[in-house]
Amino acid sequence: MRKEEQRYLKLSGLEPLIVTPESNFINVGERTNVTGSRRFLRLIKEEKYPEALAVARDQVEGGAQILDVNMDEGMLDGVHAMVTFLNLIASEPDIARIPLMIDSSKWEIIEAGLQVAQGKCVVNSISLKEGEENFIHQAKLIKRYGAATIVMAFDEKGQADTYERRIEICERSYRILVDKVKFPPEDIIFDPNIFPVATGMEEHRKNAVDFFNATKWIRTNLPYASVSGGVSNVSFSFRGNNTVREAMHSAFLYHAIQHGMNMGIVNPTMLEVYDDIPKDLLEHVEDVLLDRRDDATERLLEFAETVKGIKKEDPEKQQAWRENELQDRITHSLVKGIDAFIEEDVEEARQQVEKPIQVIEGNLMAGMNVVGDLFGSGKMFLPQVVKSARVMKKAVAYLQPYIEELKDSSASSAGKILMATVKGDVHDIGKNIVSVVLGCNNYEIVDLGVMVPPEKIIEVAKKEQVDVIGLSGLITPSLDEMVYLANEMEKEAMDIPLLIGGATTSKAHTAVKIAPKYGNSVVHVNDASRAVTVVGDLLQENNKIYKEQIRNEYDKFRDQFLNRTKQKTYISLEEAQQNKFKIDWNTTEIEKPKVLGIREIENLDLKVLLDYIDWSPFFRSWDLHGKYPEILEDIVVGEQATELFKDAKILLQKVIDEKLLKAKAVFGLFPANSVGDDIEVYNLKGKKEATFITLRQQLKKKEGVANIALSDFIAPKTTGIEDYIGCFCVSTGFGTQELATEYEKNNDDYNSIMIKALADRLAEAFAEYLHKEVRMKHWGYAINENFTNEELIKENYKGIRPAPGYPACPDHLEKHTIWDLLKVEENIGVKLTESLAMWPAASVSGYYLGNPEAKYFGLGKIKKDQLQDYSKRRGCSDEHARKWLNPILAD
Ligand code: SAH
Repeated sequence: MRKEEQRYLKLSGLEPLIVTPESNFINVGERTNVTGSRRFLRLIKEEKYPEALAVARDQVEGGAQILDVNMDEGMLDGVHAMVTFLNLIASEPDIARIPLMIDSSKWEIIEAGLQVAQGKCVVNSISLKEGEENFIHQAKLIKRYGAATIVMAFDEKGQADTYERRIEICERSYRILVDKVKFPPEDIIFDPNIFPVATGMEEHRKNAVDFFNATKWIRTNLPYASVSGGVSNVSFSFRGNNTVREAMHSAFLYHAIQHGMNMGIVNPTMLEVYDDIPKDLLEHVEDVLLDRRDDATERLLEFAETVKGIKKEDPEKQQAWRENELQDRITHSLVKGIDAFIEEDVEEARQQVEKPIQVIEGNLMAGMNVVGDLFGSGKMFLPQVVKSARVMKKAVAYLQPYIEELKDSSASSAGKILMATVKGDVHDIGKNIVSVVLGCNNYEIVDLGVMVPPEKIIEVAKKEQVDVIGLSGLITPSLDEMVYLANEMEKEAMDIPLLIGGATTSKAHTAVKIAPKYGNSVVHVNDASRAVTVVGDLLQENNKIYKEQIRNEYDKFRDQFLNRTKQKTYISLEEAQQNKFKIDWNTTEIEKPKVLGIREIENLDLKVLLDYIDWSPFFRSWDLHGKYPEILEDIVVGEQATELFKDAKILLQKVIDEKLLKAKAVFGLFPANSVGDDIEVYNLKGKKEATFITLRQQLKKKEGVANIALSDFIAPKTTGIEDYIGCFCVSTGFGTQELATEYEKNNDDYNSIMIKALADRLAEAFAEYLHKEVRMKHWGYAINENFTNEELIKENYKGIRPAPGYPACPDHLEKHTIWDLLKVEENIGVKLTESLAMWPAASVSGYYLGNPEAKYFGLGKIKKDQLQDYSKRRGCSDEHARKWLNPILAD
């Protein structure tokens, strides 16, 4: 039975998308659709594919989880356009990440798309429109191509426009697909037609209600099938009045999701936050959607006239909340993150109770519960929650002396959680955010900080009798630390759940490497809101079933993962070397650097870096997803993003004015040649100074695709041509920890996290700036380049700066070579930890490759033959090599 229960819709681009009952609504991006976007149509017609790709990229960055591609236009060769575009997408890993939806009313276009699309995509769509035979034929082919499909509620008689017709057609389609075609039911996605309401036509009154009910019926009666739809259609009658349309979309979505709609096309810029819809507008809208009154349409039309372009915030109302009752005021301060009044309100509350602790347990917890609920249901965002925590801490700090005076016991907590960044790793933004959010939910946090040795984690966990341990790490060696710790916990017969989080961690690694080592639950949690639910479930009284579910889920995930990996074919190192990336060394551009040797920048003015900051990752670190600057206008997260950005700018200005952080760099440019897969680096006298050891892809490639190593981009010694390479380390991290500690002392986690996030941004900006200086001046192979920051972020320039630990060169040991060559620690003080994390955390290091053909790639896994070759080249034991290359070993 359990097996059956787990029939989830599974799609994939380069990454999997698994739709489980717990998944949030899946958002399909539709801007790459010539019928829906004039701009996209023009770009395709004019064959401006790079710009068309940018449209796709914007969708992905904007949070689309599936990419709908439609080329149905009379003047276009649809097959050609579809195939060309999908092929181009396949070579853009940042777009190809998400699954494709191949959208066409012409079967030949769909089939052409299926033949070139990688991953598991969705066909949009098939239906019984042209009869059963055709439907079955197409379904069989889709099944053979291994895709999922949307099924429109359409049959020989036409489109389903009532509840009864919708369920009749969907049921018939389902039975044919499942019984006759043996189509996997989880791969069926019904589109039961979203039609406009409030059209003035009597027969359209039930359009939304019928959709909701049909959705519910499908989800109840047609096991494993999904339901999707295009939402903007519902508000068609209100074109021109975005206030009403936005309210209609979110109210429609709210009800549709409650009835079981789990994916669809929604334009995020045309969506209001459900709870923010003014109550009167919402009532009018829902009257129409839910068909609650005979005169609903007229009333909404009338009302719509009054809400054209209403203002969001009434300044008069802003202080009005101060007049409310005490508890409301405290809750308001917590929810809005306002700390100006909290002490006076808490004092008032204290005078009303017997023991000061009751203010925490009563008033403050009541407020934080509201925060928790709003965040849990997606109505509040992470930066707001962290600000709430700041208010909470301030309130608690105010009460502390009174509590101590009475020698009162501390407030009871929902559970005790140990949080730590593992040994050798220094990154803690994510961990701190999770801690704050859990703290807001009444968990007591024991935070051990960064670089925590396993013995210490175990010792404190026992001493403090914690209920859960949460581990965090950013670099790959931390993965092994986590495995080691799980093993130790098992040996010590510990019996508390383990949470795993951080940038390089994944569900796959957790399931395959960590979970098998430890008897209690091991759960991968990579975002703060999920951490709250997972911990809640783990610590509930009857958690047996939940824990068993987790265990089964991870067991299954592991089996699937291992099976999939087994199916991959790797070639021998020798074969891979034969198939190297070939450059014609007689014609390629090689420019001798203007200045060879090592240079240092001791204290760059931080102001210079402002123009080079890439802000999108900054918002991502606060769980606000989208591309800067568009994110500031986004209807869902725009307000939050703007607020956060404002706070960031203030702190940044302070950092610059008061010179609170130091920007230091060291870099070098050297003659170099490749020798096999090594890159030899020479000094000015031609003597070998260092050897960069590069690794070569061994995954079997398609005809005509190379097995690359970074050394392929440097002229081989045998050519007799002098080539060059550079390397660098930049840091803006000196001073960060002191500032963060200072903020923490003042109970200001918000700014403590903020300063770290900003320091990281400055470090990346420094890397970008220095790279440009190198290209234009020091190396000087691109003296005339002229790129905007946006173009720099897109890496439109010539040459690359691969960073050790990243996909093309995952070997962290290379940092030792860079450190020795540039004397990084002596020169600028950046250190390497035992796991080769850079300290301070806000540091970036890498190589400079100047060849115009140099590009980033992912190494993938390597075989034993390369491991042995590697240990010979590195002059270390196989054991040592295995330890460091562990995450990339295929056998
Ligand atoms: N604008 C971004 C820049 C950092 S990510 C930011 O501010 O965060 C891009 C960097 O990651 C590249 O410049 C390179 O140093 C590194 N990188 C990306 N892909 C890589 C790969 N496949 N191999 C090695 N390094 C890579």
